[in-house]
Amino acid sequence: MPEGPEIHRAANNLRKVLEGNIITHVECPYPPIRGQEHRFLGQEVLRVKARSKAMLIHVGDDVLYSHNQLYGRWTVQKKTSKERKTNRSLRIKLETETHVACLWSATDIELLEPWEVENHPYIERLGPDVADEEIEFKSVLEQIQNTRFGGRQLCHLLLDQSFLAGVGNYLRSEILFNAGLHPNRKLKSLTEDEQTRFAYSAISTTQRAYVQKGVTVDKDLYDLLREQGMSRRQARHYVFTRDGLNCHTCEGLISHTRLSGRRLDYCPNCQH
Ligand SMILES: [Zn+2]
Repeated sequence: MPEGPEIHRAANNLRKVLEGNIITHVECPYPPIRGQEHRFLGQEVLRVKARSKAMLIHVGDDVLYSHNQLYGRWTVQKKTSKERKTNRSLRIKLETETHVACLWSATDIELLEPWEVENHPYIERLGPDVADEEIEFKSVLEQIQNTRFGGRQLCHLLLDQSFLAGVGNYLRSEILFNAGLHPNRKLKSLTEDEQTRFAYSAISTTQRAYVQKGVTVDKDLYDLLREQGMSRRQARHYVFTRDGLNCHTCEGLISHTRLSGRRLDYCPNCQH
């Protein structure tokens, strides 16, 4: 399942070809928005923005909301390139003078008025989005100091989008490792220093994954490990999917556990 950085990268690709451009052709075969072509045609795309795992495309007076769930996917290509073959079903096609953007297979699609966005049931419950380039350190730290979440363990909190949006499973393990925090710690047990480290790690780990296309380790280390013949899967993270291998920091063995049916990996030496 795509996590925050992947959705924000998809938004970035869409932004490059759509923002500031006029929609010259549109197809809406999917029932919730079927027959709504006139609301896009001839209108300018004002803004493309990811909010956690949702995509918001402001076109004319409307906002196209889509959530990819498990299978949804946006593709972008030049109008002149050959259409790719796919088994996915088309949900919406937006064309500009030069490019074609298509949403495939997503089931959660709506047209909203701009004022409805913040009250949308999915958007409304999101915490600060650490995959957003404009995220402020202060808002993340405030959330970490919010007593509402105090009694919960870090490993569970990090999958709760109302705590911090944009974090998914691989980021959960990597954020905790970079912060040096044990997954079972409760939020309220963190010292002031640990709160700061946690906030910093949540932002920097997620932003690095965005910039480095899902790679959470330092780029030089990644290149070195790949040169040494390590697979992408084992080289791209500090702990996630590296159970039984040596920690890059302390040389100890990475441990593995499952929480809420999803894998979590950590270093028992480095994380307290
Ligand atoms: Zn270690």
